[in-house]
Amino acid sequence: MLFDDYRIDETLKENIAALGYKRPTDIQFKAIPSILAGEDLLAVAQTGTGKTAAYLIPLINMISKLRQDRRYSNAPKCLVLVPTHELAEQVAQACKQLCKHIPIKITALYGGKEQDEQIKSLKSNNGIVIATPGRMFDLRSQGFLNLEYIQYLVLDEADKMLFQGFLKDIKDLLKLIPKNRQTLFFSATINREIKEIAYGIINQKAIRIQLSPRNPASNNVTHRYVKVSMDDKRYYLERLLLENETKKILVFVRTKVRAERVYKAMERAGIETMTLHGDKTQEERESIIAQFENDECKVMIATDVAARGLDFKAIDIVINYDIPDQAENYVHRIGRSGRAKNKGLAYSFLSSEEDKYWKPVIEFLGYEPDEVFLSSQEIEDTITFSNQFTPNLKALLTEIDDDEAFKKAKKKKHKK
Ligand code: AMP
Repeated sequence: MLFDDYRIDETLKENIAALGYKRPTDIQFKAIPSILAGEDLLAVAQTGTGKTAAYLIPLINMISKLRQDRRYSNAPKCLVLVPTHELAEQVAQACKQLCKHIPIKITALYGGKEQDEQIKSLKSNNGIVIATPGRMFDLRSQGFLNLEYIQYLVLDEADKMLFQGFLKDIKDLLKLIPKNRQTLFFSATINREIKEIAYGIINQKAIRIQLSPRNPASNNVTHRYVKVSMDDKRYYLERLLLENETKKILVFVRTKVRAERVYKAMERAGIETMTLHGDKTQEERESIIAQFENDECKVMIATDVAARGLDFKAIDIVINYDIPDQAENYVHRIGRSGRAKNKGLAYSFLSSEEDKYWKPVIEFLGYEPDEVFLSSQEIEDTITFSNQFTPNLKALLTEIDDDEAFKKAKKKKHKK
């Protein structure tokens, strides 16, 4: 099956081709015909599967048809609700590319940015609004967002929105938009609670699509773990980074403090990295993300919250420097390599203290990833040949000082 075989707008087909998509991915193959037929949808699909285009392609086709009606009103027809700023921006980008030369207005609404531009864009919006719940309600209560003509509602990464406590917001939203609408519910994970909530929002006859239900992690990613002590993680990271100098690598850590600590350790080893975490301003975030995208710096050390929703095109390796404390984040993290049809690689550094986090990951996956066994000689080599290996007290004290300085700076910032 090729995109050319679909009965959709010719310009849309050209835009799909310009993005380099020839064949639909699994989720697209399953979802597009149902959405075009007007069905509600409950889809369990992770990022990296092509889920964004799976809903945007049919929606754009349907909205461009609606436009041919003389009574077409000058108000948004489709609302895509997403959990994060970055996902809002990414979906908007994908939407703009797919809408090239198709007169459908697109507006992305999210916090951390001035409202003025968004309000201006909303005034002429007769098409698609992509929004995070907070900013959406804000602008609606100020009277800038008309929800009366919404015919299509998409909840993207609905599980994350629910984890973030947006259930009430979603319920409130349902009271504001027409009952007679098509609803598409996308979630990376599913459990009884999410299912119950989903069926409170979508039509009972909704089509259900679940990708690889027994393997929530993307099949495109080879993921392995290595047992390593907490103190030795930095040496393993250094080794992996040096052995993969040409690769684009995303390193996940559990906290902001750890992100800065790992950054310092790599700096000492002469390896350039960047950090992305909640203490960065919106401006800093954007600059870091751009540098990573442009390969100006190939290694990014990030926390889960900071990296949520980001879609980097070609990450070669994901490293779980720390095991995530929420099992589903393991899937979100490793899914960042191996996007669409590329093969990805992920390593997890598992220390004995993290067994309590690792067990839920295994339960969530339904299997344990393969272990990489290292001989005692390899372990010794990794540590003693490290540029950071400084078995003297002075160096160790400098490191502790660095850490204290970061903590103090953080406290000061909070006090301001
Ligand atoms: P998503 O799961 O929507 O975040 O998409 C993951 C990545 O797959 C994005 O970089 C898309 O541009 C890409 N993609 C989506 N659909 C296709 C397709 N049919 N063929 C090739 N790449 C695709």
